[in-house]
Parts: sequence; structure tokens; C-alpha cells
Amino acid sequence: MGSVASNLADVQARIERACRDAGRDPAEVRLMVVSKTHPPELVAEAYAAGARLFGENKAQEAAAKAAALTDLPDLRWAMIGHLQTNKAKDVVGFADEFHALDSTKLAGALDRRLQELGRSLDVFVQVNSSGEDSKSGLPPAEVEAFAVELQAYAGLRVRGLMTLAVYSEDRDEVAACFARMRDLQTRLRHLDAAAGSYDELSMGMSGDYELAIAYGATTVRVGQALFGAR
Ligand SMILES: *Cc1c(COP(=O)(O)O)cnc(C)c1O
Repeated sequence: MGSVASNLADVQARIERACRDAGRDPAEVRLMVVSKTHPPELVAEAYAAGARLFGENKAQEAAAKAAALTDLPDLRWAMIGHLQTNKAKDVVGFADEFHALDSTKLAGALDRRLQELGRSLDVFVQVNSSGEDSKSGLPPAEVEAFAVELQAYAGLRVRGLMTLAVYSEDRDEVAACFARMRDLQTRLRHLDAAAGSYDELSMGMSGDYELAIAYGATTVRVGQALFGAR
């Protein structure tokens, strides 16, 4: 593994190439640096190399890092892991984005806290695109009804959908997950009763972000390709 800066440059170059191959503008795709388990010093190193969006999956760990790095301007935190309702309060204090929304109970808890603080939060609806029991997220068939229910929460700015594809050597199986997400996004964009734009697709990790870009990913979430194996 090279330095964080050289890994970041490499991943960015691959994102640009994947965009070119897909006939897409690289400006449409954001790189989220997944910094879970890594100390604030490493976040600061990636920040110095140009990264601005960081992803974390545990509320307490993320809150501590955010508190340690408040001096870095324009740094955005995204929560990407399943969240218990009683942690909503911690998350709205520092997070700019939440990528794992999959229940109205959680939507309500986040919204209440957001209203108290007079702020809003960018949210992504998590979809279980592979159908594996081990994965969080709504079954694709339930997403449209959920999208309509989300209208009730004024503090949530619904930006789009998020998924983790199946972890597989078989590229076609992974691609099928991403294709399912693209189809779902198209349906939601035509659903007038849904709140939000659904312009965003948060999908693709270290092993599959180039493939995700071919299927329309607008945010790729990359950890190990930048920091090494966890
Ligand atoms: C850890 C994690 C990632 C990043 O995975 P890498 O293999 O480190 O790139 C992306 N998304 C979610 C939801 C994660 O938990």
C-alpha cells in the first residue's frame, strides 16, 4: 500500500476512468472516504490530500472523531451504518448525511432531533438489493411505499438510495444488484407522491466501485483501497 495521498489519487483516477468508460461526467460522482476504525490523524491526512466527505458506521466513534476535527473547514460526515433509534440524537449533532435510513421509526427519531436543532439532514434510503438476510435495508418492493411515507418528515432531505451489493467473485451477480438499484431509482423519480429528488445512488465500495459507476452511482464509499485492510 502507498501513502493515503497516493492511494487517494489512484482511486480518483480510477473513478474518472470509470466515468469516461460509462460516458459520464466525473463531476457527477463523489468519493466518500470510509474512515471507520481509523484514528482522526488518518482522516486529517486524507483531508490534507483533498478528501472532504468521510463515512463512519458507529455513532460514538464518529462523534468523537468529528469533535476532534472541528477545525477542518468543509469536512462533511456521513453515517453509513445501521443506527438504533436512541442514537439519533448523537448523529444529528455532527452528521451532514445519513445513508442507512430503513424505517419510519428511525425517520421519526431523526426528524424530532433535527426540528429541535432547527436543521435538516441529507438522507439516503437503504435498500437490500441482494436479498441476503445478513444485509440491512428495505426489500426493493417496499421502497416506493416507504418513499411516500417519508413526506411526513420535514427535517429529512431525501437525496436518493443506498445499497451494499452482494459480496461475490461473480461480476454478474454484483452488477445485478446495481441494476436493480438503477431501475428502482427510475421508478422513484416518476413517483410524484415521493418526497425528495432521488438523484443520488450511494453504491460501490473498494471491490466494486468502478462497476457501480457503470450503473449510475453518484457516491462511492471507499475504505480499504485507501487505508489498507481493516
Ligand atoms: C465499510 C463500509 C464501506 C467501505 O468498504 P471498503 O471495503 O472498506 O471499501 C462502504 N459502505 C459501508 C456501508 C461500509 O460499512
